[in-house]
Amino acid sequence: MDRKRFEARLNLARHFFKHTTRRVFSHEAKEGAGLDLFFSNYRADNIFEIEDFERERYPAFARCIQCGICQPYCVMFRAISHLEFPGPMIVASTLSRALAELGAAAGVIYNCTLCRLCETTCPENAPISEMARFMRKYIHKYDPELTPEPLKQLCSLIQKHGAIFDEQAPRINHEKKSAEYVLFLGCHSRFRQKQRAQAAFSMLEKLSVDFTTIDEVCCGAPLNAAGCGETSELARLNIKRILEKNTAKVITLCPHCLMSFYEDREYAARIEAVHIAELLPQLHPVHAGKERVTYHDPCMLGRTCGIYEPPRQALTLAGAKLLEMDANKEKSFCCGNWGGLGQSARATADAIAARRLEDAQKAGADTLLTECPWCLEIFQSVRLPGDKPRVTSVIEFLLGAQT
Ligand code: SF4
Ligand code: SF4
Repeated sequence: MDRKRFEARLNLARHFFKHTTRRVFSHEAKEGAGLDLFFSNYRADNIFEIEDFERERYPAFARCIQCGICQPYCVMFRAISHLEFPGPMIVASTLSRALAELGAAAGVIYNCTLCRLCETTCPENAPISEMARFMRKYIHKYDPELTPEPLKQLCSLIQKHGAIFDEQAPRINHEKKSAEYVLFLGCHSRFRQKQRAQAAFSMLEKLSVDFTTIDEVCCGAPLNAAGCGETSELARLNIKRILEKNTAKVITLCPHCLMSFYEDREYAARIEAVHIAELLPQLHPVHAGKERVTYHDPCMLGRTCGIYEPPRQALTLAGAKLLEMDANKEKSFCCGNWGGLGQSARATADAIAARRLEDAQKAGADTLLTECPWCLEIFQSVRLPGDKPRVTSVIEFLLGAQT
C-alpha cells in the first residue's frame, strides 16, 4: 500500500472512531455509513503530500476536541465579529489534507494573528498557531491565488532585497571585524526605527558589551508567518556572516528574529541568541520620572520565548510607576501586527491595536512600553482620541530617564 493510501486510512480510522463513538453515545448509529462509504469515494489525488517532520506533528494537530473554551480569548473576537472570524476552534477544524477543504479554509486561516493566546487556554494543548502556519504553507503551495496579495508582495520583497521594505539597506556604522556578540537589528530597526537602534547601541556601549553589526538579511520569520517563501537561503547567509565575526552569539532587537534563531533548525544548530530585553536590568542605576507606565508583553517575546520579567524588573529597579493591564504576561493580548495581518488586513490590525491601547488607558498609564518593533510600529501608527498613551520602547524610556 503506498504512503498516501496508508495515511488516508489512518485519517479515516481517526474520523471513523470519533464519529462512531459520538453516534453510539447519542444513540444515532446508522447502518452502512463509514468505511464502505469512504472507500467507495476515496481518491488518492485529493490528498496532498506533507514533509516527514510535519507527519510527526499530526497527532498534535489532531488534539482539538472542539470544546470551545478558547473562543472568547481570541484577539480577533475582541476586534471583529465572530461571523468574520469564527475563532481558534474553527482554525483547528479546518485542518484537512483534502485540497478542496484546504482552499475553502483560506478565509479563516489568513485572519489569525498567530498570537497563541488561545493556546494558553486549551485543555488539550492544541498548537493552533502552528496549524495555521502549516495550512498557509500548503494553501500557497497548491493554490497561490488564495494567498492574500499583500503577503505575496511581502515575500517577494524579502526574496529581492533581503528585507520587508522596498529599498536598499542603509549603512550602519557599527560593524567591526570581530566581536563577542553580533547585534542583529531586524528589518524594522535597520530601516525605520533608527532611534531605537541608536538607543540599543548606547545601551550596549554603556554595559561594555563587545558587539558588532553585520550586513544582515531578514531572519525569515515574516516568510514563515505568511507561508509563502523559503527561508533556508536567508538563514545560511546570516549564519555565514555571523560566524565571520568569530562568534556564534547574537543579541536580537526583535522577538520574531529571536524566535527564528530558536525554532529554525539551521539557526538553532549554530547560533545562540538572546533578546536585548534580557539585558535591561543591567542598565541600573537609572531613575524613572513620575510618568505612569505599563508594559505590553509582545506575543513572541512572552508566550513563545518566555521572557516576561526582565523588562518589568528593569522598570521596577528604576523606580518607575509600573501599572499592569488586566491581560498581561501569558494572557497578554496581541498588538494585531503579526501573522501578516498588518499587511493584508490593516484596518482589522489597527482595531486590535486600538483595543490594546484602550487597555493601557484603563490601567491609568500615560505611556505604553514594549520591546518589539512590530508592536511599536502599529501602536505608534494608531492614535486614540486625546493622543494617550504615548508609546515607546523600554530601552528608549530608560535611557531617556537617565539623561
Ligand atoms: S492564535 Fe491568536 S488570532 Fe489565532 S486563533 Fe488563536 S487567539 Fe485567535
Ligand atoms: S483548540 Fe483547545 S480549547 Fe479550543 S476548541 Fe480545541 S480543544 Fe477546545
